[in-house]
Amino acid sequence: MRKSKAWWAAVVLGGVGIACVPSVLVEYSMNAYVERSARSKLESVAHSALGLAELRLETAMTALVDLSARVEGCDPKSLELMRKAATISIPIKEISVLDEGGRTICTNFGDGAEPRAVLRELPLADCRFDLGLIRFRDRDDRAVRLRLDRKQAKALGATIPADFLVPEALDGDFQDGRSLRLVLDNAEIVAARPVGDEGLSIDQTRTLGVHLKSERFPIAVIVERTRSTLAVEYREVLSAGRLSSALITLLTFAFFALYFRRNRSDPLVQFREAIDHGEIVPFFQPTIDIKTGKLIGAEVLARWRRPDGTMVSPANFIPLAERSGLIYPMTHALMKRACVEVGAIHANRPHLNVAFNLYAGHFANDSIIGQIQSIFGKSQIALSQIVLEVTEREPLPDLDLARDIINRLQKLGIKVAIDDVGTGHGGLSYLMKLGVDTIKIDKMFIDAINTERYSQTIIETLLELARTMNMEVIAEGVESFDQVEYLQRKGVHQAQGYVFAPPLPASSYIALVEAMDAQKPVAEEVASAA
Ligand code: C2E
Ligand code: CA
Ligand code: CA
Repeated sequence: MRKSKAWWAAVVLGGVGIACVPSVLVEYSMNAYVERSARSKLESVAHSALGLAELRLETAMTALVDLSARVEGCDPKSLELMRKAATISIPIKEISVLDEGGRTICTNFGDGAEPRAVLRELPLADCRFDLGLIRFRDRDDRAVRLRLDRKQAKALGATIPADFLVPEALDGDFQDGRSLRLVLDNAEIVAARPVGDEGLSIDQTRTLGVHLKSERFPIAVIVERTRSTLAVEYREVLSAGRLSSALITLLTFAFFALYFRRNRSDPLVQFREAIDHGEIVPFFQPTIDIKTGKLIGAEVLARWRRPDGTMVSPANFIPLAERSGLIYPMTHALMKRACVEVGAIHANRPHLNVAFNLYAGHFANDSIIGQIQSIFGKSQIALSQIVLEVTEREPLPDLDLARDIINRLQKLGIKVAIDDVGTGHGGLSYLMKLGVDTIKIDKMFIDAINTERYSQTIIETLLELARTMNMEVIAEGVESFDQVEYLQRKGVHQAQGYVFAPPLPASSYIALVEAMDAQKPVAEEVASAA
């Protein structure tokens, strides 16, 4: 069976699938690289932002501790000290004296303070301090307040505007989907970049975010960017990656396409497929007893029947089969097929033989013996009906081994013939050494009958040799009645050639056998036996 369209479609789809694998891998690793690189940038921004916030809070704490030794309450001297401290210390905008409830009694600006609310104060690691978020009643800005509790005096507070705690210089960076937030541990947002952007969205599918918590203060920095902005920033990397992955996909696909094309156009692959698909079929050329006119049997000759019906002759594939070693599976397939196709007509005609051509390589080891036993052992063709032809054209690899194999085959009842006798370089001694049953005189000498004297001399010598060695003779390629007459005169009994029949397909051969070698009906047989 030829490979179906569905099979080829599956191969193409499979090829495309396989070709896409490198592309998927490149895409995956490229995305992983972009994410890793973007995340590491976010981490570095978060580290520097958190560092700035911590530095500013530490500066304010130092200023409060320094003041605490000198400020007693809201007296003018204390207020003056507070004013100076507020001016010197960069993050501090306001220093205040607080009552037990945390309310402002006075500030460096004098008595009273802007109305405000201090939200949930959080204790610091240094337990004298608390940190709380301030929301002013009349303004949107935010601030944090550091409160320093004092045992002997009223607590001191330092107000730091929220904007002082996040990097101003980096403001330009926080655009196009990028944002930074400074939050308290209780999740209150202290400050945001861009200003006013307070929507927290650690949604991993749409944003890439880094959350960095301070080890010294109850604060954390969240830096985020929307994933869609990555495509813009890493445009070049992504395009280079996609280009190379497209190239890899293309190359992989081209490789597969070429591989399959090459394979499909490779004669060896085609021939292998032809064997597998049963396209190598046996034709049968009858052998005739020219003394009686009866059918002796047939020689199996291989034909390659292509799916379109065209026939390829052995000259076009046997040399390739022999070179590649495909001659072995081919011979095997041919023998099995011959059993199926002409087994039945051989079953009740034990006198009919069937000859197969073997290659010199078949005699390189004895596996052919086992193969023939397994093919014909249970078939309708008996081993005693089989003739194996071994050509004289090709030298045998090991004469002694070949002789041994031939001998073992003969013990099974198989006959062995030497084909193309007179064309090879083995000479007559070759023939004698092998101990075969039959010689087939090559067409070349038959063609020369009645034209070339020396050919006739060779034929006569071969016939003499066959008589002496008790071998049978078959004349090959007999094309005319003159040749038949000559052979008859010389005592040759068996002949093959177009004058009788060309190689025939099984159906024609079966019809010929039934016509030339009709079997008596069973009842008639019984009567004649009686
Ligand atoms: P071969 O074994 O000598 O077979 C005889 C060849 O002569 C066949 O050619 C046959 O068709 C051709 N022939 C027979 N009578 C006549 C005739 O009167 N006139 C002419 N002009 N030709 C005639 P084919 O079938 O083309 O085979 C050619 C060769 O291919 C065979 O020569 C054999 O050596 C090889 N071959 C064929 N089938 C097989 C096979 O199954 N195995 C092996 N190893 N070789 C094979
Ligand atoms: Ca032959
Ligand atoms: Ca021959």
